[in-house]
Amino acid sequence: MVSRLFVMKSLNLILLLTLFSLPLLGQAQSTAKPKPRVVVVGVNGMELDVIRPLLLQGKMPNLSSVIKKGAYGKLRTVSAPNCPRVYSTLFTSTKPEEHGVSGFIVGGITANTNMLKQEPIWSVLSKEGVTVGMANVPATFPVMPVNGFMISGMLTRGKNCEDGVLCAPKLSEVQGGDAVYPATLKTELLKNVGDFYIDCERMPAAADLKGHETEVIDAWLSKVQLIRDQQTQLFDYLLDHHPTQFTWLAQSCEDRTGHWLYPIAPYHAGYNPKINSVRPDAFPNQYVAFDKVLGEILKHTDDNTYVIIVSDHGIKPLREFEETDPHAHMDHEKTTPVIAKHDFADGDDVPGSFFAMGPGIKHDLRLMGFEASVYDLAPTILHLYGIEQPVQMRGHVLSEIFENSDKAIAKK
Ligand SMILES: [Zn+2]
Repeated sequence: MVSRLFVMKSLNLILLLTLFSLPLLGQAQSTAKPKPRVVVVGVNGMELDVIRPLLLQGKMPNLSSVIKKGAYGKLRTVSAPNCPRVYSTLFTSTKPEEHGVSGFIVGGITANTNMLKQEPIWSVLSKEGVTVGMANVPATFPVMPVNGFMISGMLTRGKNCEDGVLCAPKLSEVQGGDAVYPATLKTELLKNVGDFYIDCERMPAAADLKGHETEVIDAWLSKVQLIRDQQTQLFDYLLDHHPTQFTWLAQSCEDRTGHWLYPIAPYHAGYNPKINSVRPDAFPNQYVAFDKVLGEILKHTDDNTYVIIVSDHGIKPLREFEETDPHAHMDHEKTTPVIAKHDFADGDDVPGSFFAMGPGIKHDLRLMGFEASVYDLAPTILHLYGIEQPVQMRGHVLSEIFENSDKAIAKK
C-alpha cells in the first residue's frame, strides 16, 4: 500500500511538474535558435606551397576573402596520408586503425563505407535532427541513409572503373552499390543536371604519353575541366533545390593533377622535360579553377553561414623512388610518371589545410604550427550545433578560432 501510494504521489508530482513546465517548454520551443548552417568544401590535396603564391598574385580572390573574414592554417594529418584514410578520420575523428579504412585497398577490397567501424559525422548529425547533404565527398560509396541526401565521390565503382580506384564513372555507369541517397534523387539529377562524372579522370599511362606528350596532357586537362564544370553545376543545383543545414561538397581533380604535373625543376626526382616542361602552370591553374567553384558555392551562403574549407593533406615532389611499390596507389595501371606524392610515412611532411569563417569566428587569424588536426574537424562541427563530442572522438573543438573561446569551451 505504502509503495503504491508512493507511486501515485510520484506520478502526480510528475504530472504536476509536466503541467507547470509546459508553458516553459512551449516558450523554449518558440524562442529556440534555428540550427546553424554549415558548408564544408573539401579539396583533395590542397598544397599551401602552391596556393600561397596564387593568393599573393590575387588569383584566388574567393579563398582570399575567406582568409580575411576567418581563420586558417595548416592541418596536421595522419601518417602516410591518402584520401580514404584521411577522409574517414575527418568523418569519425578516430585513427585509421580504429575506423578501419586504412587505405585505398583494405584486405584486398576497395575501401568502402561498409568498412567504417566508427560512427561518421553524417550519422551523428542526422540522429540529432540536423539535415545533411553531401556530394562528391571521397570514400562515401556506397552511400548511407542520412537525414537529407548523399551523392558519393572518389572510390565509386562503375563501368571501366570496376575497382573504383582513381577513375571516373558517370552517374549512369555506377555499379556495385548506390551512389545516390535517396534513390529518387538519382532520377531527378539525371534529368536536371545530366549524367555527371562522380570522380576525377584516370591519369594517363606512360605508353599513352610517349611521343604525344602535349596532346595527351592537354586532352587530359580539358577532361578535368569538364568534370569540374559538371560538379559545379551539381553543387549549384543541390544548393538551390535541396539546401540542408549541414552540407559537405568536395573536389578531387587538384590532387590528381599534382601527382603527375606538379611544376618540378630539373633537379627534382623524376624530371622528364618532355612532360614536365609542357604545362608547368597546369597544377597551379587547378587552384585558380577551384577558386571559381568556391565562388559559386559562396553565392549560396551569407554572413550567418559557417564556411569551412578543408584539405586532407598536401602534396610534395618526390624525394626518392621506392623500390618495393614504385607508384604506390597513385595511378590505375601503376605506369603514370608520378613526380609528386603525399603518402610519406611522416604526415607532417604533407600537412593539409583548414579555413573557416562564420558567426563568432575570429577574423584574419592564422593558426601557427599544428594547432589544428584532421581529428578536430568533426568535434568542431558538432560544437557548432551544440552536440556533445562522442567519447570515441580523438580531436578537440578548435576553440581558439572563436572570438569568445571561453564561452565556446563552456558551451561544449
Ligand atoms: Zn593523391
